Amino acid sequence: MDFHLYDTTLRDGTQQEGLVLTVGNKLEVARALDTFGVSFIEGGWPGAIPKDTEFFRRARHELKLRKAELVAFGATRRPDLAVHEDPQVAALLAAETSVVTLVAKADARHVNLALRTTETENLAMIRDTVRHLTREGRRVFLDAEHFFDGYRTSRGYALRVVEVAAEAGAEVVVLCDTNGGTLPDELGDILTVTATTGVRLGIHCHDDSGCAVANTLLAVDAGATHVQVTAHGYGERCGNANLFTVAANLALKKRIPVVSQDSLSEMSAVAQTIADITAAQPVRAAPYVGVAAFTHKAGLHTSAVRVDPSLYQHIDPEAVGNSMRTLISDMAGRAAIELKAKELGYDVASTSEVVSRVALRVKDMERLGYAFETAPASFELLLLDELGIKRPFEMDSWRMTISGGRVDASVRLEVEGGHGLGAGLGFTPIAALDQALRGALAPSHPDIVEWRLVSCQCWSLDGSLGKPAATRAVVTVTDGQRRVSTVGVDDDAVTASWLALQDAISLVLLTREPIAG
Ligand SMILES: [Zn+2]
Repeated sequence: MDFHLYDTTLRDGTQQEGLVLTVGNKLEVARALDTFGVSFIEGGWPGAIPKDTEFFRRARHELKLRKAELVAFGATRRPDLAVHEDPQVAALLAAETSVVTLVAKADARHVNLALRTTETENLAMIRDTVRHLTREGRRVFLDAEHFFDGYRTSRGYALRVVEVAAEAGAEVVVLCDTNGGTLPDELGDILTVTATTGVRLGIHCHDDSGCAVANTLLAVDAGATHVQVTAHGYGERCGNANLFTVAANLALKKRIPVVSQDSLSEMSAVAQTIADITAAQPVRAAPYVGVAAFTHKAGLHTSAVRVDPSLYQHIDPEAVGNSMRTLISDMAGRAAIELKAKELGYDVASTSEVVSRVALRVKDMERLGYAFETAPASFELLLLDELGIKRPFEMDSWRMTISGGRVDASVRLEVEGGHGLGAGLGFTPIAALDQALRGALAPSHPDIVEWRLVSCQCWSLDGSLGKPAATRAVVTVTDGQRRVSTVGVDDDAVTASWLALQDAISLVLLTREPIAG
């Protein structure tokens, strides 16, 4: 029996506040999920949501899936209506997917109070709809909604729903913790009892108790062979079980090959692709795929990582396409400096004096208000300074005037072979200075015009008694591909930003070609 990794990002995931996907976005997400290697992609609810009807229509022509099966989602027939007369059921067939997932109430209280029908009629609705769809050649999965709440209040009825669906021809009955409040021990016990029915079981967990992933894994231990998940754990309220965390845990820890090793090694890139499409930025500390998932900061800790990364990492980050990062801060010792330098492509292990000087300067500068972890390029520049690499330009003088809300700036600098002069005009001091600086450098370094200022953020630092607070500025520049962030500190906010900008441009010019070090 093949294990089902069933993704519902496009249906349950889009219940997340602020997540709005066009039909085109949904097609792109489906392609990314297929590339990753999920078994099923639940595309939406045709007939109930016009955009989803449109999605299935376009998917027939535009979506060429390599591995995944596309699934239409919908409800069992309405109470007191023949199944072949129900337009919602007809819309499910019209979606022309090979698999249909039906949602049915498994909690007697919901049947009586929300659906306003009898428990017997609810069972008939399940039986009729599953039979109708299987007769039409569809594979049918049944989501038993509110199963765990129903089990607590009326165990016999919840189990009856599972049995009736399976008897009618449902291939999998998915037990849903719709309110997300069930804790792992109870969920495991309920699953074990339900598994005695002999029905193939699936699991669908929400994260309202922070246990969606743990519950999903426990359900697998108790016999579930179908897991429903969403990319990044998107979903309403606190979200659903996270596709990436569940897939990596199953594949790497439980040795259930839900996706191939090759797919897994692309997982961080797939996660980023989906986040780019949905425009919902991933959590930095997300397990496996987060930027911070394999980041090391403390001094003692990084010296151990340098000896053997497995001392402080639960897996090799490359197994999921992520990488180890070292953060430079005033906690950084020699080991962190060496690791970070190596990450940037410099071998400084044999130059212990350089490492010592860099470590001292980092501590001194952090005391003044510099923050290297927010501006890794400043660390690289500091390293280059200590390696004796000459800066590409020296500032002779600069000035700016503000009038009528516009800023005029001019700079004069020394570059190899002479002077550079530049002028700039902007709405902010940093924009005008940026233009003037790049103007002054353009004759000697023509490719600098491809770089532009992306952001300049300032923080006020704690002022000491009788002294005003200094400013920390972090400036980011990009050429559209690479981003370079540097930090500057000064009593004056404009000067802090200006120092950071000069450093950013210096580093760009110094690192266009690999520097031996
Ligand atoms: Zn759900």
